Amino acid sequence: MLSLLVSCKVDSIFNQQSEYEKYVEALHTIELAKTALAQDWIKAGRITSENSLSVSLPYTELTRFDPANPKSVILKYTVKEGQNIQIYLQRISDDSSKVFLNAFAVGEKGMKEVAHEADSDSLKYHVEEDAEHLIRIQPELLRGGLYKIHIGFSATLAFPVPGKTFENISSYYGDARDAGRRKHEGIDIFSPRGTPVVAVMHGFVRRVSNNNLGGKVIFVSGGGYSYYYAHLDSQLVNIGQRVKLGDTLGLVGNTGNAITTAPHLHFGIYSMRKGALNPYPFFASTKIDENIKLSDSTFLGTYHRVKNMKVNLREAPTTKSSILKSLDKNSLMLVDAALNNWYRISLPDGEKAFIYKTLVEKADENSLKSIVLTDSTRLKDSYIQKSGYFSGSLKDTVEVLGDYKNYQLVKFPNGYYAWYKAS
Ligand SMILES: [Zn+2]
Repeated sequence: MLSLLVSCKVDSIFNQQSEYEKYVEALHTIELAKTALAQDWIKAGRITSENSLSVSLPYTELTRFDPANPKSVILKYTVKEGQNIQIYLQRISDDSSKVFLNAFAVGEKGMKEVAHEADSDSLKYHVEEDAEHLIRIQPELLRGGLYKIHIGFSATLAFPVPGKTFENISSYYGDARDAGRRKHEGIDIFSPRGTPVVAVMHGFVRRVSNNNLGGKVIFVSGGGYSYYYAHLDSQLVNIGQRVKLGDTLGLVGNTGNAITTAPHLHFGIYSMRKGALNPYPFFASTKIDENIKLSDSTFLGTYHRVKNMKVNLREAPTTKSSILKSLDKNSLMLVDAALNNWYRISLPDGEKAFIYKTLVEKADENSLKSIVLTDSTRLKDSYIQKSGYFSGSLKDTVEVLGDYKNYQLVKFPNGYYAWYKAS
């Protein structure tokens, strides 16, 4: 999965340029793309296996985009046919920067853009196929601020039994039936006999009939799908009739093979091409996680250090996700985003991961030791820069905040940070 992404190419829908692509083109046109800052910006938006982490929905994080240090948020998530995906930016700091939101479907042959937005703080799109999707969130050059990012989904259909929701589903799609000989091709919603069942969207009545399994049944077509209502006590529409969302179609009962069961609606969704689909994603919706503390913003962009021996970096913010690597005690990382119990982090070499919050501590607050610098050739400004340079004065006493591979991060009395190579 991860190795696939490396060779990914971005295919825009119908070759139409997104605002993001136009922006990159404009940087080239005015020759700004040659500047180090613009190059860093373009690089920050490049999707690679190192910078795309996985999350499950709903997802919320608190993050800061530093205008002087171009970054993007790139996250992968699983989508299900029937969902309305919603990506929503909540601006905590007062800023008016343009933020590019680009969503892609990750496929075997690369990536295909599925939706984009640059003039609004939310991106919403409908999922037509189960897939892995990826969102890139990136403010324009030299802009940024503090944001909460929410990724969730909402229902695309009204619920067929008014007053009930997807939380009232009693039997799910895929449950075993007839001692495992067949699978349940829909959902069951228990409700008193005579409760109205309604059209989940506008459409037209394709069939009103009676069969052994479903008893009195109705098929309604709309939005590219066929909706199946079964075990009805009464059918209140006729074949060919147009119905609007919310129109009553019939009444809950227990006809057909439900005759020994309490009255319930069996509801199914069928696609011409794929057959029976799981109705659940068409009805389910997520709530925004309000538990993320704004006070966590003080940790964003700061170095954190591993407190104990060997801690695990994860691909997703859950201990069930795969381990990307283990880090030794005192290893350093930058906190990019705060979740409820996790941080999204970058290692000094740029690799991204999630780590459980309590495994790390702020490096700045307690230095490991003080040392006197003796050799300027061992100093460099940035961990990733190949050729180091530094103009600080030697014989300074510096604080060692932690280490990464064979470098230590040191802090000068004037607050300046540098990397010092172990002798
Ligand atoms: Zn059923």
